[in-house]
Amino acid sequence: MDGPGDILRVAAARFGAKTALVTATRTLTFTELDALSDRVAAWLAVRGVRPGQVVSLYAQNRWEWVVTAHGALKAGAVINPVNVMLTPEELAFVLRDCGSATVFTSAEQAGTVVELTRDLPELGTVVAYGEADGAVGFAEVLACTDPVPEVVTDPAAPSTIGYTSGTTGHPKGAVQSHRAVLWNCATTATVHGRHAGDVVVTALPAPHVYGNVAINGTFLAGGTVVLMERFAPGEALRLIGEHRATLFEGVPAMYAMLLADPGIADADLSSLTRCTVGGQTIALSTIERWETRSGAPLIELWGMTEIAGLGTTHPLHAPPVPGSIGVSLPGVQVRIADLEDVRRDAAPGVPGELMVRGPIVMIGYHGNPTATAEAIEPDGWLHTGDVATMDETGHVFVVDRRKDMIITGGYNVYPAEVERVLAGHPAVAMVAVGPVPDPVRGELACAYVVPAAGTSPTEEELIAHTAGHLAAYKRPRLVRFVDALPATSTGKIMRRELIKQFTP
Ligand code: ATP
Ligand code: MG
Repeated sequence: MDGPGDILRVAAARFGAKTALVTATRTLTFTELDALSDRVAAWLAVRGVRPGQVVSLYAQNRWEWVVTAHGALKAGAVINPVNVMLTPEELAFVLRDCGSATVFTSAEQAGTVVELTRDLPELGTVVAYGEADGAVGFAEVLACTDPVPEVVTDPAAPSTIGYTSGTTGHPKGAVQSHRAVLWNCATTATVHGRHAGDVVVTALPAPHVYGNVAINGTFLAGGTVVLMERFAPGEALRLIGEHRATLFEGVPAMYAMLLADPGIADADLSSLTRCTVGGQTIALSTIERWETRSGAPLIELWGMTEIAGLGTTHPLHAPPVPGSIGVSLPGVQVRIADLEDVRRDAAPGVPGELMVRGPIVMIGYHGNPTATAEAIEPDGWLHTGDVATMDETGHVFVVDRRKDMIITGGYNVYPAEVERVLAGHPAVAMVAVGPVPDPVRGELACAYVVPAAGTSPTEEELIAHTAGHLAAYKRPRLVRFVDALPATSTGKIMRRELIKQFTP
């Protein structure tokens, strides 16, 4: 196997008639998925899409998305999965930035994309999953009878231009090699013991690296993916029971919502054998509550778009190390760099910047050599932008993002630490901590809290709760009660948005 474009062919040969993918509208075997993606590859070749050209995908999770991504990879194209939440303006930026020639999208969004073709000379073809004016229907693509093109894959060449979540600013396009993506899918397949008997329920977006490795890592192992179009806690609980899911995968906010859902009381979670969580810091209390309720370990993993998926996690059955994101994955090197001097390692337990090196590191940010040079050191170490510590056993503990640090009266406060303490209070369903400007201290830490159902905590009570756990300068000075927290399409809470949304 040279790249992710080979995954379905190999899986179909081994697990052909087994169910590979279940969505709300269609269930497909490995043989069917492989055959449908062959049609997409053949059609793209007929349309003149040559190896190395960019094919964009702009749609919610759906079976057509999976078929298109694999078909485009089989045709040798570089795939560009786009977050569906982007506005037309942001989408136009991404498509122009990548020089995309073909976009696959939903019938509902096809009008927007067709409109963009006027200003984007390179963008020649829009394909709609349904019928739409100015777009080719997906049925026509699947009806293509031409032969599948024969493509030779260079493992070091670009396979995917994946955009970051945009949690801290504008999304950046990380160019990932075939080797990086396949390496990640293969590691994901083995590290948590995926096997052909697995049924994975997830609502992680397919365009995101975590969604991608969850889906394709499962395919590699011959397991079944039950893919939700978007996350809804009651529906997720129902699907876990109905499909006897063995694995659920999601970001921290999803677990908080599952535990807060009225359906949790009667949900049948008995089939789960382990779950994974990553993408953002999770409160230990959420891990404990989920493990108690489900009876399955909740395994933390850490990853980023710039490494095409995971960098660290806890291998299945390893002794738990609470609060740690685990150890580096096979073939991946991690170190903690001194915050002042990247060439020096921080001492064990001392916070520094988490650095990653290995075959999973991106080729660079698309069309942005300056940002690439800032991110990747000449000797190959990638700056993750995350502050972390490492203990003597190689376990990594994320402190927080460097960018999200709040400086109050000259002291550094990491929001994640405050969030973890507040999440341990029974009246807190969800919490995020962000800065508010203060004339005296520069910034103050403000906690935005979604109260647990049936509770009405007070500001004083919650601040008092933190006093038992945090030094005075780290305690939030303000608490605001809100109904929901602003999140990216991945479900990550955007702390910097809080101040914009909730400050009059
Ligand atoms: P942007 O770079 O556009 O601001 P983003 O960093 O959220 O968005 P992703 O590539 O999706 O985009 O996310 C990677 C980041 O997510 C990591 O750098 C880290 O900050 C955070 N992260 C991932 N897993 C974990 C985890 N288990 N614990 C804490 N943080 C995590
Ligand atoms: Mg990032």
